[in-house]
Amino acid sequence: MLIENEPANCPIQWISVTCIMKRKDLRMLLTVACFALATLLVDSSSGDENASAPKEKIPVLIVDGQNNHDWKTTTPAIRRALESSGRFTVDVATSPSTGTPMDGFRPPFKSYRAVLSNYNGDSWSAQAQLDLIEYVRGGGGFVVVHAANNAFPAWPEFNEMIGLGGWGGRDERSGPYLVLEADKWKQDFSPGIGGAHGPQYAFPVLIREPEHPITRGMPREWLHVQDELYSRLRGPAHNITVLATSFSDPGKRGSGRHEPVLFTLEFGQGRVFHTPLGHADYSINCVGFITALQRGTEWAATERVTLPIPDDFPTAQRTRSRGDSSINHRIRPPLAAWPELPVPASVAKDPLAGNQAGDERTFACNLKFCWCPEGSYQMGSQVQEELFQGDEPPHIVTFSSGLWLAKQEVTRAVWRDIMQTIPWSPEQQTSDRIDSDPNHDSWPATHVSWDDATEFCRKLTERERKAGRLPDGWSYRLPTEAEWEYACRAGSQSRFSFGDREEDLLNYAWFAANTVDLGQNHPQPVGRKRANAWGLCDMHGNVWEWCLDSYDSMKSYRGGCWSNIAWWCRSADRNALPQKQRNDMLGLRVALVRSTADSPE
Ligand code: ZN
Repeated sequence: MLIENEPANCPIQWISVTCIMKRKDLRMLLTVACFALATLLVDSSSGDENASAPKEKIPVLIVDGQNNHDWKTTTPAIRRALESSGRFTVDVATSPSTGTPMDGFRPPFKSYRAVLSNYNGDSWSAQAQLDLIEYVRGGGGFVVVHAANNAFPAWPEFNEMIGLGGWGGRDERSGPYLVLEADKWKQDFSPGIGGAHGPQYAFPVLIREPEHPITRGMPREWLHVQDELYSRLRGPAHNITVLATSFSDPGKRGSGRHEPVLFTLEFGQGRVFHTPLGHADYSINCVGFITALQRGTEWAATERVTLPIPDDFPTAQRTRSRGDSSINHRIRPPLAAWPELPVPASVAKDPLAGNQAGDERTFACNLKFCWCPEGSYQMGSQVQEELFQGDEPPHIVTFSSGLWLAKQEVTRAVWRDIMQTIPWSPEQQTSDRIDSDPNHDSWPATHVSWDDATEFCRKLTERERKAGRLPDGWSYRLPTEAEWEYACRAGSQSRFSFGDREEDLLNYAWFAANTVDLGQNHPQPVGRKRANAWGLCDMHGNVWEWCLDSYDSMKSYRGGCWSNIAWWCRSADRNALPQKQRNDMLGLRVALVRSTADSPE
């Protein structure tokens, strides 16, 4: 429902407040006014819920109407999440649209036991701001979801209420970062942005306060569905209790820190439950999120939690979601396998085909290729991988014929030869990690988008055809994800191609432990580490390698990169970026395949 602006029936003369607004001492006066109002008008229904029966429904008001997120799908998901508990009645106050006058928008907060903000947009009127301050100070419950903490960077009381926020120009002037060191939260006042996130993925949530009413009974670790993980939030950070965190992985453009994902605050007599999770409806449909939201809202409204942990709560290994989202069953249709082609009778005698796994042969540009024979394997996370990732379901893939995969990632020298471009050069990039040293020809080509990478394969094919070096039916292209993982595993079922031990990865891969941790923020020359069983080098680490497939609306890449921790270098790890994305972690490796079409897409 859309709640219309209620006529002001407030005992304070708002006109005088409006006049005062222009004065420097506004904040103090507002604060005084708020305390006065809180004393006069404290909602008699708030803060004394202890005696109430759990069956009494709690009225909740969701505020939305402007957001850089799709509030028209997230508000219904939030509403469903709350109403499905049977504990709440939910109304929605929708603001005027962006850029239109907000004077008339004055949600009747005090008619509710909790107010949930799904709002990130234009400033509210001074009156509406005071209403919220007064409401929460007086004991009203306040719930903050995801980008609601992006709102109102210049409204001091709002930032006190939310504790931590992001974007909107937030920086060190907004307050400290909260940093977890040796199990203690510390305030970090160092300069820097407020608010960041990398690509969406399924990540674990770790409970830090297992005895808090909101989290009591939850598994100490559970896997959240695909979502954005906010990092580097900053704000006044007063009176915060962090209930749960998630690790923001530097390999996913994260902070390398545990970031708060569920926390509570006190503001006056009010209780605030804040979760930076909940980017999209599918994120909200996570049973873990739903449970935390229900219990957090109940706690904010009543200080008690009566709602149970449901039976279908996620585990450390498994995401669980409700609603009509297909997120639980995966983000993408069945994995793209080998192009479906009839196998001609002459296959076995094709002069270009290899004989057995790991056969090495040199083709275009003096590039070495390794033969990956026909056969089957289990793609995806293996059962023994303790942290099953939601997008790596075990899945048998069969190839009816083999392929050649380049032994090494495409180097800068090879890229220049084919493309006549140097996309990693400073002139073409704005990244702060650029290297244009001509002596680095053996480094992998980076700063190539998926479009660039496919164009590379097309040009390579065209050139080799013209030179008579490529028989009909064979072409160069990016490997599919299924091909890539098949070649990476090279017959193994372990976490990495050589086994499960992360320590051994040092022998096989360039990753954070032997690059970033040693101060080397760049890729390394290709082919310097041990090869896998089929002769392929740098399948784990060095640069991410674009694959042919789409993943959601993006393009997949594989293999981990120099800045990744070991976990993201696993054979099964999946990731994706927009196809125009370029950075110093993204490169490619080419496959030479027999197909009836140059591009199987
Ligand atoms: Zn978001």
